[in-house]
Amino acid sequence: MKILFLGTSAAEGVPGIFCGCEVCQVARQRGGKNLRTRSSIFIDGVLKIDLPPDTLHHVLTYGLDLSRLHHLLITHTHEDHLALHELGYLLPGFAQRELPLKVYGSADFARALGNASETVRRALEVHVLQPFTPYEIERYTVVPVLAYHREEEECFNYLVSDGTKTVLYMCDTGWYREATWRYLAGVRLDAVIAECTKGFVEAPYDTHLGLNDVLQLKERLRAMGTAHAQTRWVVTHFSHNGRPLHEELEAFCRPHGVEVAYDGWEMALSP
Ligand SMILES: [Zn+2]
Ligand SMILES: [Zn+2]
Ligand SMILES: [Zn+2]
Repeated sequence: MKILFLGTSAAEGVPGIFCGCEVCQVARQRGGKNLRTRSSIFIDGVLKIDLPPDTLHHVLTYGLDLSRLHHLLITHTHEDHLALHELGYLLPGFAQRELPLKVYGSADFARALGNASETVRRALEVHVLQPFTPYEIERYTVVPVLAYHREEEECFNYLVSDGTKTVLYMCDTGWYREATWRYLAGVRLDAVIAECTKGFVEAPYDTHLGLNDVLQLKERLRAMGTAHAQTRWVVTHFSHNGRPLHEELEAFCRPHGVEVAYDGWEMALSP
């Protein structure tokens, strides 16, 4: 399984689009891995998770051909994960491609699509997924698990397995609630990609994670037997508020066996 990190930031990007804070200034000066666009991953060029507003940038930067994209999984409807208006460019006149595009998400995601025009909805084949239920998509088994992220919306994280490797994409979420722990107790993970919006900073809100939360998560999943010695740990989805300078993140994470994702990184999970 190959996972391409198209974007690794929270909603405002790193540097924040309009931000002049010290962290954003340093990120601009250093460039490279410090420049992060809104989060999305692409698994083997087959399954794409989320449609951020930076999608055209991703197409241009990584030479993607999304006319061949047939399966789009959506975690939740925050704008950094679902740029609804971009779906309009699926339509004839904007795109020559096979329709409909299969989109997958929660019932709340399907309701949010109600805000798209009737024509756009006709360009989509909407699959409403139930949490903790396995679905076969191409050669993958996909299980949406409940994230803890928004009161008013059922938000998903995704377990994706290709029969050899299983990865958990935790974006966006705070500390899981009971139902998710219970489900994960029966799963063996080869990789965990955890969001890390709060980075180094202990912020008061609980609908995102920081570095210390990820270390606790690692301990808990190890204790449960869900993660093991070979499980790879990756952090992504950084906000400038968490002071996410790549070199500092790596220095902190390396001794804990955690890898720091960056835009354009292709992570290979060999069988
Ligand atoms: Zn987000
Ligand atoms: Zn900033
Ligand atoms: Zn969110």
